[in-house]
Amino acid sequence: MNQYNLGDANTAHLYALSQQGNNALTHQALMQQATAQAAMRDMETEKNIQVPKVNFYPSRHPDPHKARKKDIKQAYKLLAPAKRSIFNPLRWALGRKYRYDKQTSMCVVDGCDCASLIQHDNLYNKIRDEDTNQSLWELYWQNPISGQPEAFIAKDKVTTGRKMRGTYCPEHMHLYHLLCKWETEEDKVKESNPKTLRDRVKKGVSLVTVPVSSIVKKDPTPAFLEKYEPFFAELEKDSRSTNGINILHYKNPSTNLNDVTMIVFDLRIFQEELAAMNQPTAAFQQMMMGQLAQQKSLEEQPLGGVE
Ligand SMILES: [Zn+2]
Repeated sequence: MNQYNLGDANTAHLYALSQQGNNALTHQALMQQATAQAAMRDMETEKNIQVPKVNFYPSRHPDPHKARKKDIKQAYKLLAPAKRSIFNPLRWALGRKYRYDKQTSMCVVDGCDCASLIQHDNLYNKIRDEDTNQSLWELYWQNPISGQPEAFIAKDKVTTGRKMRGTYCPEHMHLYHLLCKWETEEDKVKESNPKTLRDRVKKGVSLVTVPVSSIVKKDPTPAFLEKYEPFFAELEKDSRSTNGINILHYKNPSTNLNDVTMIVFDLRIFQEELAAMNQPTAAFQQMMMGQLAQQKSLEEQPLGGVE
């Protein structure tokens, strides 16, 4: 698709390329990609090592966001492990779909022997991330715990999928690194997009704590009625202790809203309740009766010597 090759590009051309398209693909990153391409080609001629033709060529789309998307797509295509021909019986009979899936020191795309490449010239160590200044060697070819050299393991879907028995050569490794960076940028854009957030909420993933106050429906009470609020609070409180106060709500059947509120003070019930309060309870009456009877019997007894 791309007849251009970064390895052939001169400095001015690279600079021009970095000024267009994908913002995240900087001049330095392009220089590194181009240098890697050229260095690997040198190695091919010097050492007779088979090296890849990555041929990544950045998109020149005027919209930087679209350009990045195109670059990501192109990177995925270029980093996909090489498949066997569909006419190759190995692919079908033995299920060996991928061509370079046997040695962790081989590039899964082009089958180049990364172990002998490293012995000749460790390009992984020369290509650095311009933000962190870490080399590909430090980032991908070292065991994070022991610090010992360890081949990067490629996956069959590039960033996801099954782990293969294979790796990426420096050039593909660099492209993989750039791809990861672009995708991180892409994710940041997506996260900040309110539409994505809505989609995630729809899927049932709630990432945001919604303040309770915004869930509670606004009270439709007109402002000038506010001064009656303490009055209603008193009514509510008292209606619990007496049946003489009733707060009646009339729910409008068509709107289901409380359109009419009535307060009923029932004097008869107040009076009944007051009378009941003054009337002693059955238990009290019984006690009084008992006391009366006791007093009577005391009075009937002859009082000896007192008074
Ligand atoms: Zn490769």
